[in-house]
Amino acid sequence: MEKPTAMESIQAEMADVVKMPRISTSLAHVDGIIQLLSEAKEKIAATLDPHTASLTMTKLQNPAKVAFDTIIGDDFKKATAAHKKLGKALDKHFPPKPLPSEHDAMANHQDQINRAIAMHFLREGQFNVASTFIDEAQEMKARNSRYSASSVSDSYSLDSSEAMDEDQPEEASPTMTATSAGQHTSEMEGLSSLQSQELQNKFSEMYNILQELRARNLLPAIEWARVNAAELEARGSNLEFELIKYQYIWLFKGPAVNGLPDDENNGQAAALRYARNNFGRFQARHLRELDRLAGAMAYAPNIPDSPYRQDFAIENAFSTVATSFTREFCSLLGLSAESPLYIAATAGTLALPQLVKYIAKTRSRGTEWTSANELPFETPLPRRMMYHSIFVCPVLKGQTTETNPPVILPCGHVLAQETLHNLLKGQRFKCPYCPSEAQMKDTRLIIL
Ligand SMILES: [Zn+2]
Repeated sequence: MEKPTAMESIQAEMADVVKMPRISTSLAHVDGIIQLLSEAKEKIAATLDPHTASLTMTKLQNPAKVAFDTIIGDDFKKATAAHKKLGKALDKHFPPKPLPSEHDAMANHQDQINRAIAMHFLREGQFNVASTFIDEAQEMKARNSRYSASSVSDSYSLDSSEAMDEDQPEEASPTMTATSAGQHTSEMEGLSSLQSQELQNKFSEMYNILQELRARNLLPAIEWARVNAAELEARGSNLEFELIKYQYIWLFKGPAVNGLPDDENNGQAAALRYARNNFGRFQARHLRELDRLAGAMAYAPNIPDSPYRQDFAIENAFSTVATSFTREFCSLLGLSAESPLYIAATAGTLALPQLVKYIAKTRSRGTEWTSANELPFETPLPRRMMYHSIFVCPVLKGQTTETNPPVILPCGHVLAQETLHNLLKGQRFKCPYCPSEAQMKDTRLIIL
């Protein structure tokens, strides 16, 4: 029973932090100071009289002091006090435990980490932050490579492609698809490719449409779905229909619910007109649903007591449709729907307690965890965070890839395709793990 109370007290502290004066008020105060200073500067610059100059300076002193005191005394002190209290509460209820640090699985993947961070900012619509981050990452990299020109292998060890490359959800910008896992030398180009205006424009479009969806405006999303209808159709997506359906319901509910102007473009008549103009294209695939939506018209004055109650309950529609919009938009870009950085951090947080427990146990027994890049226990992750399995060829001692996939032999042993080709004598080969012989045509590819 201790945990919920711990969470409750932390939530209480959080509420205090949220109540604190926002940084925006401090910004206003800072802007005030800047204005005072520049006004004084202009006054002094405009006169040649030293008395006026010193008078201006004297006059400036008091208001400037008051403004600084407000920022430091009020805004800043209150905010830090609240943060400190929250920090203490966190330490008290969740005492820090030492994290395993012997093996830094990410040490050789700086570029990929940077790429994931930059991509995350882009997805969140933080384009300036992403751009600055990419510039600084590249600068730092250039500086580091000048330092370690003698030890080139530092950040580019060729065999470091095992764990992370494959565990990460697939993430490749259209321009990046050619530089797949393992080709570390081209990763920096990958990072600068994120600077591309095209990709930024795409994410900016996605971000704007999501903003509109959050503000309960379906129209930009509908427009996007219409432009991309062919590709969405090819993916078997229902997004356009869902959006149009909700737009119909949204109009149907009228100004009291949707807050749109009370004119001929709103309300049931407008919904009916919207249906006439837009439902036709979906008749073949969604006839039943269309019937229901149209049938509801008969119950218009009293939908909540009608059999159509469920169809017209769209409280969660905007967030549901925002999720599917993001998924479709990203998949048309060849990207996963959720930010890989977000997934990695979430999965890591979920798995961490297990890892900490494991390390503590092995340490107390005096044993060590030696297998790099893999964990000797199952991590308790939800299904949606599990991706494909990996296969390491026992002969090649490397992970199989799309171009070099695993192949199962008639004896049941599995090898990488390349290994198999090296073993071939004519059409026949001998399994390196058991004495059985087989032919190429008896083998099967394994799709991971
Ligand atoms: Zn065999």
